[in-house]
Amino acid sequence: MEKYKGLSPAEFFHRNREIAGFSNLARALYQTVRELVENSLDATETHGILPTIDVEIKVDENDSRLITITVADNGIGIPITEVPNVFGRVFYGSKYVIRQTRGVFGLGVKMAVLHAQITTAKPIYVKSSTPDSRVIYEYYIFIDISKNIPHIMKFNVKKKKRRWHGTVVRIVTEGSWILARRKIEEYIRRTALIAPYATISFKAPGTRLHYSRASRKLPEPPKIGKHHPRGVDIEILKTTIRSLENSISLVDFLSTYFEGVGKKSAEDFCKWAGFNPDTPISKLMLSDLERLARKMREYNKWRRPRSLTLSPLGSELLEEGVRNILEPEFVASVTRPPSSYGGHPFIVEAAVAYGGRIPVQNTPLLLRFANRMPLLYDEGVDVSRKVIDSIDWSIYKIKFPAPLAIVTHICSTKIPFKGVGKEAIADVPEVEHEIEIAIRDVARKLRTYLSKLEKMYEIKRREVTIKKYIDEVARALGYIVGNDSKELFRNKLLSLLNEDLRRRSIVRKGEEIGVTAKTASNS
Ligand code: ADP
Ligand code: MG
Repeated sequence: MEKYKGLSPAEFFHRNREIAGFSNLARALYQTVRELVENSLDATETHGILPTIDVEIKVDENDSRLITITVADNGIGIPITEVPNVFGRVFYGSKYVIRQTRGVFGLGVKMAVLHAQITTAKPIYVKSSTPDSRVIYEYYIFIDISKNIPHIMKFNVKKKKRRWHGTVVRIVTEGSWILARRKIEEYIRRTALIAPYATISFKAPGTRLHYSRASRKLPEPPKIGKHHPRGVDIEILKTTIRSLENSISLVDFLSTYFEGVGKKSAEDFCKWAGFNPDTPISKLMLSDLERLARKMREYNKWRRPRSLTLSPLGSELLEEGVRNILEPEFVASVTRPPSSYGGHPFIVEAAVAYGGRIPVQNTPLLLRFANRMPLLYDEGVDVSRKVIDSIDWSIYKIKFPAPLAIVTHICSTKIPFKGVGKEAIADVPEVEHEIEIAIRDVARKLRTYLSKLEKMYEIKRREVTIKKYIDEVARALGYIVGNDSKELFRNKLLSLLNEDLRRRSIVRKGEEIGVTAKTASNS
């Protein structure tokens, strides 16, 4: 006889940890750091706070697999009653709204807790306080895996003595610092690149990184938005209708609860789709809702979603981050106008960096970011890699091996990730198209720069060659005309050369080479 039972979400992820990035000891440690840092960044910058984040990793002296990770932030904190659920219940969080954040699933930190508790049997430690709370609270929490509910081991409350808000999370987990070290350091470095307004310090055995904020300018935080009609389904319609206190007309329903729909466009849509705009929404049957959802998705005259829910970094900050972290000789960037796929708004940003301290490689070094998260794994299946590999770089004057880095950043209320580990982005055509335009745009700027460089080298070469003969020619001319005129010829020839360089717009007035002040003013 078969035995039947249900599986709690916690139990499911306990069994299938690898799909959330917890596949081995190196990945588990990397993923734990990542989930904690990303929650800290969400809790600060999304709410207009300049982030200050401390990350510390300690390895047990007797057992190198036993690792303590502490992440502290100056964010908005977590309300005292919510702490147990947000850390102890899979699929619980504050980010199930239409807004660009790093977290989306309400899963990340619970994966870290699950991994910790099944490998070390230690609870997670959380200390937090919200800005308006008078107390600081500390929790030690386990997850009851089979029930998917938090289990509080210990709880403390203290009066707040100084003004502090934020969260400190400590997890004791099994991992490998040796194997994860490079990736974690790179992750911190790239986080500093994409968040140049953050102060991040990182301490671990044998390593200490500190990135002071290079800018106090925070990108405009994202606002919470509404569903776009192109992205609705029956379930979204049902939940929205259920949340209404009173029944309203279809046309009011559409123009109030959906993004990019005004009264006029709602009426036009109803006409096109064959609905009476005055129908009370409560009168719609399931079959009507099915047709409504389908027609809403099909209608191609909706305005596209606005980008208030998004928070791109902006060209200036992006370049600042790239300059600080990659230290290139040249950088250019672009923030594309908003676009959308399936009703989800998105914005692509890209930067190109060349020369300086960028390693010389046979292919462009790619730094991928999504909603300001660095993506370090699975580059081979990411849409940005696909685009980069499809470009013929020689048309941009790049000859490999070359010191070339490409940065791509995609912001969206729904990044089309390939998995819950959030490492690679799928090749949705609209997104791919925008990435390509962005990369080609910055590549053109690089080409202009490289052409200028090329021209300068060319002229320098010319100058060196010609100068080699000037003395010789001046002497010969001097000899013909009479010996004391040699200097005169030399200066005349040099000013001719300068004239020529100036004509090629390489030398500006006052920067001429080799002409003595006296004769320069003579000529
Ligand atoms: P997600 O980030 O996808 O929402 P998580 O499991 O990582 O899911 O976190 C669950 C919730 O816990 C978050 O939505 C947030 O409300 C809260 N949270 C976690 N860490 C912090 C933090 N450092 N500061 C404030 N809130 C936090
Ligand atoms: Mg998270």
